[in-house]
Amino acid sequence: MKHEHDVQRQPRRDRLIREHVHDPYKTRLKLPEPTVCTQCGAVFHEGRWRWGPRPSPAHEELCQACHRINDHYPAGELTITGDFALRHKDEILHLARHQEEQEKADHPLHRIMGVDEQDGAVVVRTTDIHLPRRIGEALHHAYHGDLHFRYEEEAYFIRVSWTRER
Ligand SMILES: [Zn+2]
Repeated sequence: MKHEHDVQRQPRRDRLIREHVHDPYKTRLKLPEPTVCTQCGAVFHEGRWRWGPRPSPAHEELCQACHRINDHYPAGELTITGDFALRHKDEILHLARHQEEQEKADHPLHRIMGVDEQDGAVVVRTTDIHLPRRIGEALHHAYHGDLHFRYEEEAYFIRVSWTRER
């Protein structure tokens, strides 16, 4: 069963992501604290972005998620295909949004930046490399089907595909 093999490989890939890769959208400079994103209002404080009241005074800068959204430059893509998947598209997108809400509560920069339908597929694009896998795993858990991941280390980009025909 190919998808099970792929899923089992993931912990090793996670380690590779952490060890070798740097998000090109992440600023190389250390952000002053606190910093507020001028677009989404996320606050950079104690070394990480979080949601919270706007501190005053605060340095202002665009967070990398908003930067990617403005550039239409996703870090991840989840492609959903198959007759079953397309027939249950509304439920599936609801599940995807629910996963996003949960992820985004703790990780403000992990977001869905767009959902498109093209050539019999639904494509969910994200601002980060974690959310496509989280949604794919939730789909696999809820509806089975086939799940695949491919992380493109050089490009800091993850492609996830989930399909179920019947
Ligand atoms: Zn932002």
